[in-house]
Amino acid sequence: MTQPAFHRIDGVLHVENVSAVDLATQFGTPLYVYSRAALTAAWRAYAGACAGRRASVHVAVKANSNLAVLNLFARLGAGFDIVSGGELARVLAAGGKAENVVFSGVGKSAEEMRVALEAGVKCFNVESIPELDRLNAVAGEVGRKAPVSLRVNPDVDPKTHPYISTGLKANKFGVAFDDARAAYRAAAAMPNLAVVGIDCHIGSQITDIAPYLDAIDKLLELVVQIEADGTQIHHIDVGGGLGISYHDETPPDIGDFVRTVLDRIAERGHGQREVFFEPGRSLVGNAGVLLTRVEFLKPGAEKNFAIVDAAMNDLARPAMYNAYHAIEPVVERTDAPQVYDVVGPVCESGDWLGRARSLAIEPGDLLAIRSAGAYSFAMSSNYNTRPRAAEVMVDGARVHVARERETVAQLFAGERLLPD
Ligand SMILES: *Cc1c(COP(=O)(O)O)cnc(C)c1O
Repeated sequence: MTQPAFHRIDGVLHVENVSAVDLATQFGTPLYVYSRAALTAAWRAYAGACAGRRASVHVAVKANSNLAVLNLFARLGAGFDIVSGGELARVLAAGGKAENVVFSGVGKSAEEMRVALEAGVKCFNVESIPELDRLNAVAGEVGRKAPVSLRVNPDVDPKTHPYISTGLKANKFGVAFDDARAAYRAAAAMPNLAVVGIDCHIGSQITDIAPYLDAIDKLLELVVQIEADGTQIHHIDVGGGLGISYHDETPPDIGDFVRTVLDRIAERGHGQREVFFEPGRSLVGNAGVLLTRVEFLKPGAEKNFAIVDAAMNDLARPAMYNAYHAIEPVVERTDAPQVYDVVGPVCESGDWLGRARSLAIEPGDLLAIRSAGAYSFAMSSNYNTRPRAAEVMVDGARVHVARERETVAQLFAGERLLPD
């Protein structure tokens, strides 16, 4: 029988067939652990719902850019959504093909454009008129036509955290809906650009399908206008942003989401167009955990603290977005739980991983921080000169070291003392 990716045997957390205690013992903590089965299942949910339709999936690299993770998706046939030249290099190193890459991002440099053009990316998702001008100039120098889509800001509210809403008028992203038709005319007139599509990306951790349907309706309205102006739109890229369950959220099922989006586009009479999805979080978020060890328990008058060996440099989401990650003991104890703030060793009051958590723990115990596959290692830093955690991928009973733990020496290897 196939086990769920994360499950308990006699009260001990396992990742597929491997005990989380063994993982922590062998590789140390803090440790990121990904389940290949969980990653594959999330991919198959998207790919299965796209099968037989004119639709394709571009994995948002920024959510988890580890080469082993990207390599797995490349083997499964994924395309990729990148936001930097660095991410393009990762995709190529991981076995992905440039022809399946869409290049998003609000501030692409001329050098990034040149490299991406020479590699032959599928599409540049352009976010402003000055960016169109720059891309047109670079494409002229390189002697290639740049395939472009404009990221349109449909001004819909995805009802998510303000830092991860991107489709409102007040956001820095995309071309304003009211300016989009003129921007397409400008793009069509540029000699080194080939308009191929339209895109949007309205936010992240979206748990309701309605804002997507609103955004799609607005995009389709524009597509009709753009084509009336004589420019063909081959594909519609609906972006990423589908949420996952961190706590008690109930996002739509991936397959239902994909089918609803495709059906809406077909019902509106645009079924002949190709549709792109750019999921990040919903592919990787719940396929990873962060293992950490309790260093000290520190009871206090107002609060009890559990000080653990992972910190905000390892997992920034709580400090940055006030995000909730479930935290569980790796080995269950039967003692009465106490309420703790789970915090790291970094010298910042914002260095917390979970607040007011009811846990039965002792110093030396292991904790698993759940839903740590997306925007977790990828956002980690070396603040406080803390080497970044190792990453491993479990595949059945096998464990693959996807990234070695950093050493302190690596952290300042590029630094130089002053001259005499
Ligand atoms: C971040 C991002 C995504 C992925 O978002 P998720 O919320 O992780 O699915 C997709 N497209 C673009 C343009 C992005 O910036």
